[in-house]
Amino acid sequence: MTTLADLHFDNRFARLGDTFSTKVVPDPLNNPRLVVSSEDAMGLIDMDPAQADDPQFTEVFSGRQIWSAAEPRAMVYSGHQFGAYNPQLGDGRGLLLGEVVNQRGEHWDMHLKGAGSTPYSRMGDGRAVLRSSVREFLASEALYALGIPSSRALCVTVGDDPVYREHQERGAMLLRMAPSHIRFGHFEFFYYTRQHDALRQLVDFTLQTCYPASQQAAEPVLDMYRQIVRRTVDMIARWQAYGFCHGVMNTDNMSILGITFDFGPYAFLDDYDAGHICNHSDHEGRYAFNRQPAIGQWNLACLAQALTPYVEVEQLKAELATVMPLYQTEYMRLMRARLGWAGEQPGDEELLQRLLQQMQDSASDYHITLRLLAEDDAGARDQFIDRLTFDIWFQQHQARQSADPSALADRLSCNPVYVLRNYLAQQAIAAAEENDFSEVRRLHQILRQPFTRQAGQERYTASPPDWGRRLEISCSS
Ligand code: AMP
Ligand code: MG
Ligand code: MG
Repeated sequence: MTTLADLHFDNRFARLGDTFSTKVVPDPLNNPRLVVSSEDAMGLIDMDPAQADDPQFTEVFSGRQIWSAAEPRAMVYSGHQFGAYNPQLGDGRGLLLGEVVNQRGEHWDMHLKGAGSTPYSRMGDGRAVLRSSVREFLASEALYALGIPSSRALCVTVGDDPVYREHQERGAMLLRMAPSHIRFGHFEFFYYTRQHDALRQLVDFTLQTCYPASQQAAEPVLDMYRQIVRRTVDMIARWQAYGFCHGVMNTDNMSILGITFDFGPYAFLDDYDAGHICNHSDHEGRYAFNRQPAIGQWNLACLAQALTPYVEVEQLKAELATVMPLYQTEYMRLMRARLGWAGEQPGDEELLQRLLQQMQDSASDYHITLRLLAEDDAGARDQFIDRLTFDIWFQQHQARQSADPSALADRLSCNPVYVLRNYLAQQAIAAAEENDFSEVRRLHQILRQPFTRQAGQERYTASPPDWGRRLEISCSS
C-alpha cells in the first residue's frame, strides 16, 4: 500500500507546456474537514482506506499541502454551451494536480475542483460549494457502482470560507480522478483558434495516452474517433437504461473517454417522464432526458468538425451515421437484460415502448417498477393506474421472459434496489451543511452495492416523499 507521500507522479499533460495549461497554485480552504472519502477510489491509486483518517489527507485535498511531485495546472478549452460556441472556457475553478501512476501502470489524473481562481475563471470566484461537491462525489461513485462509466471521486473537504451563490454557502473541494481530463472542447479550442500545430500535438497526445491501439490502425485519427463514438454511445445508452439525466451536455462537459463527466444539476428520474428536464436553467429542454442520445450525436459532430484537418469529412459523416443505430442496439440490449428477455425478437422495441408509455401515463416510479418486475413481484401492478392494460402487457412480457433457471439472478444483478434519488442527496446535503457528515457517508456506502438488498436500509428504496418530488436543481454550484 502506498502513502500520500510515496505516490508516483508522471505529469504527461503538464509536459505539453503552456499552450495547453497554465501553472496555478491552489488557494487553500480555511479550517478544512474531511466530509467523505471513497475507499474504492483510493484503491485505484493503491492507497489503504485507513489513510483517509490521517490529518495530512485533509491537508492535501483542501489545497493546503502540495506534493513535491505535483504540478498544479489549469487546462484551457472551449466548447458549445446550450448549442452556442463559447470560445473562452477552461478550468475556472479546478486544477489538474498531476497524474498518479498506480502499481498496474495506469495513470490517474488528480483534479482538485474548487481550488480557487485561475486565468479561466472569467466572472467566477473559483470556488465550489459543499452542496455541489457532495452531489458530484455521490454521483461519481454511484454511477460507477451501477456499471455506468464515470469520472471518480476520491474525497470532499469543506472549509469555513463563505461562498456566495443564491445565498451564502461554504467552500468545498472535490478530488476528481479520471484517466484523462481531455474534453471535446479541448479539440474545439485549438481548431477554432487555428492553432494547427497544437491541435496536431493534442491529437497525438490523446492517441498515445487514451487510444494507443488506434495508433496501429491504417487511419489512426479516424479509428480513435470511431472508438470515442462507441464509448460515448455506450455511456448514453446506460444513462437512458438507468434513468440518468446529465443536465448540462455542453461539449466542454463531454469526456474524450466516453465517461460521465462534470456533474451539475443531474438527476436520476423518480417517476418515469421521458421529457424530464432536470436543469432548472434549461428553459428550452435542450438537455431533456429523452434528447440525450440526439444531443450526444450533436456533440460528436462538434468533435468531428475539429478533426476535419485529419479525417475526410465523408468518413466522419459515416461514423456519425452509426450513432443512432449503435445507440438503439445497445439500449435494447440493456433493457432486454433488465426485463429478462432472452435473445432478440422483432416485437421487442414495441413491447418495451408500451411499458414505458404506461409508466409515463401512470407516473410510475421508474426504478421501483423495473425492480418489482425483475423480482416477479405482483406489486408491480400497483405502479399502474390502468391495470387492465398493464395485465395485457404483463402476459406478453411473461411469455417473452427467459425460462432459464439463472434468469432471476441475472435480472436482479442488473436492476438496482438503491438509486441516488435527488431527495436522498438533498437529505444528506442538509445534514452536511450542519456539519453532520454521517448521512453522506451512509448513502455513499449503500450506493456502493446498488443491486443488493441491505438489511435495515428499506427507507432508501422508497420513491420520494412529497417535498422531494421534482426538486429544482439550479446550475449554480
Ligand atoms: P460548468 O458549468 O461547471 O461545466 O462550468 C463551465 C465553465 O465555467 C468552466 O470553464 C468552469 O471552469 C467555469 N466555472 C464554473 N463555475 C465557476 C466558478 N465558481 N468560478 C470560476 N469558474 C467557474
Ligand atoms: Mg464543465
Ligand atoms: Mg419532468
